[in-house]
Amino acid sequence: MRFTGWICSFVLMTMAASVYAADNCIAAAEMREIARHFTQFEGLAKKGEFCFDDTPTAHLLAGIMFMRKTDFGSTQPVSRDELFSGRFKNDWYGYLVGRISDFQIDQDCPPGVVAYVSFFSTSMYVCPLALTPSFTALDRASVFMHEARHLDGYPHVTCSHGAREGLRGACDTRISDGGSYAVTVETYAQISKYAGGLHPALRAYARSAAIIHAEETFEEPVRIDRTAQFLVLSKDRQFHSLSLNADTVQTKELGSLPGLGRINMRGPYMVQFPDDKTQTAGYVFSRNEGETEQQAGDLVIGYNKSTVAERTEFMEMHSSAQWNAQLMKGSVRFLCDPQNKTPTELALSEEPVGFIYPTGYDRAAYTVQLMSESGRIYDIGCSQRRPFVRASLLAFDQPYRRVLKVGADVIALRKDGRLFRLNGATATPLNTPFDGRVYELVPNQHVEFLDAN
Ligand SMILES: [Zn+2]
Repeated sequence: MRFTGWICSFVLMTMAASVYAADNCIAAAEMREIARHFTQFEGLAKKGEFCFDDTPTAHLLAGIMFMRKTDFGSTQPVSRDELFSGRFKNDWYGYLVGRISDFQIDQDCPPGVVAYVSFFSTSMYVCPLALTPSFTALDRASVFMHEARHLDGYPHVTCSHGAREGLRGACDTRISDGGSYAVTVETYAQISKYAGGLHPALRAYARSAAIIHAEETFEEPVRIDRTAQFLVLSKDRQFHSLSLNADTVQTKELGSLPGLGRINMRGPYMVQFPDDKTQTAGYVFSRNEGETEQQAGDLVIGYNKSTVAERTEFMEMHSSAQWNAQLMKGSVRFLCDPQNKTPTELALSEEPVGFIYPTGYDRAAYTVQLMSESGRIYDIGCSQRRPFVRASLLAFDQPYRRVLKVGADVIALRKDGRLFRLNGATATPLNTPFDGRVYELVPNQHVEFLDAN
């Protein structure tokens, strides 16, 4: 079966996991109610209660149940920025059943496609990718809302710039138009801000999902009230936010982590690769939100399947919107083409330390810098979908483990755990309460609507 409707390519956000963390079964009365609208479930409803298993039908029903049962409380004030207008907030399920008559599972979806609808029917076609444990019920609910919105007459456009540049049907023009990606942002923002009873880590995950879609799926920038900051992980596993003023450093203690390990950004998400190689990698959050079972993308799924010996060879990852790189002890493994899952490996001529971001972490960029033990810097990346490693024109006064620009400030982390403020070639030591104890340095943003208490 081919379709002529709108493809919703979620290829860039194939993230993952755990099933709806509520009851294990759907009550018989609830099943009858679902079957009243979606007659395809009549047979199942006749059998009484439905208990979740790992079948596509179960995952479909978990998404429907998330829409029916998630409690958003009675008041949901809107945001002052463009993240949450509240225009879809009241009755997700009513919105869905007003537009969609049935779900069809399409086994032949193109790679990366999660679901789609056609202009000529009220069916929603759901792809196997959406119906595995690697996709959450909350993701599915958000996708269902997004797809239903297409039937109100909102197609996508090709992204002309930014992280999704060149991708067909992967952008909307502006969020205020209220199209399908606006629905995506609104639903994730609503889950993050207002979904009572949902695990804090899932709410934190939804927060990042709202931000990344706001940042990457609109041609016109979305207005978000936010402040960029540095985030520091100290060797006692404690997160601290860090902001620079003219001559002062402001720090604030946040949450802690169970273990140490490098942290790499995946858009607004943080992914940790634990130093203890017997542990798996995954999303971490800075405010004691705890853990999710969610897998942080294909690269991390691959890492978690690898042996301890293989993990020891792996150092860290760089994640861009349309390419990524795994830094190994003597090489870099590139995935330059989202459609091709076989990495290309380029050898390094010297020992690497890690990725540095002296111009900021940018998911749209095709070049990043790699610091070596000698202090020499390399530009690595993808050009025309082909990988490259070459000597960089950049140089610093000494080797650093991290260099990161946030806003107008550049901070470097030396191997001895000390931080420096960089101004061109000049490095000035930063005095913080965790001098000499800094383990990791990553970007962070305080988003007023989602983060204010
Ligand atoms: Zn779409």
